[in-house]
Amino acid sequence: MNARTHRHFEGGRLVIASHNPGKVREIADLLQPFGAEVTSAADLGLPEPIETGATFAENAELKARAAAEASGMPALADDSGLVVAALAGQPGIHSARWAGPDKDFQAAMQKVEDELKDKDDRRAHFACALALCWPDDGQGVHLETFEGFVHGTLVWPPRGSNGFGYDPVFVADRADGGHDLTFGEMDAAEKHKISHRARAFGKLVDACFG
Ligand code: IMP
Repeated sequence: MNARTHRHFEGGRLVIASHNPGKVREIADLLQPFGAEVTSAADLGLPEPIETGATFAENAELKARAAAEASGMPALADDSGLVVAALAGQPGIHSARWAGPDKDFQAAMQKVEDELKDKDDRRAHFACALALCWPDDGQGVHLETFEGFVHGTLVWPPRGSNGFGYDPVFVADRADGGHDLTFGEMDAAEKHKISHRARAFGKLVDACFG
């Protein structure tokens, strides 16, 4: 697709459509070179929409749209998760939910492993969708959405305590820039060179911030 068909972010205020402080900090850092004055949906006291989408892109778009419409400012949202081939794509958009209300990812990784028992196919990928939404003053909204992926294999037992979520059981394919370490064993800079989030972000920056 021709980059000039995308809308460009011209600076000024931008809402990060998240109530997760870690995610807000990570996105704010990534946006820092592009002259955005960043605030968050939590700072503005915006409600968290229910994620009713069937895909990562739909959920990112509904979060970005809700924040843009409520604030009157451009808003950026992300939605991500682990997609396991032999589990028909689960946990997918429900990746956070598999950890339960206590956000117990040890239990979530164990659940993936239990469901994979007796299956030879251990392929999985992380996916990230980023949606940037402009509220066009009563004229509807304009959305730009980009996705990034990193493909790999699930290992057991979990290894490493860096990162978060399912990182300790995921080894990226060599073809996708990985080697023998899990994402949980890589340092942050190394993971961010090849992660699904970095890849989606690279596409967003090329199209809308470049
Ligand atoms: P979200 O906040 O609804 O997008 O949920 C994302 C969930 O997907 C997280 O809670 C993790 O379980 C999982 N996830 C997404 N990205 C990563 C990653 O880079 N490493 C490990 N787990 C991830």
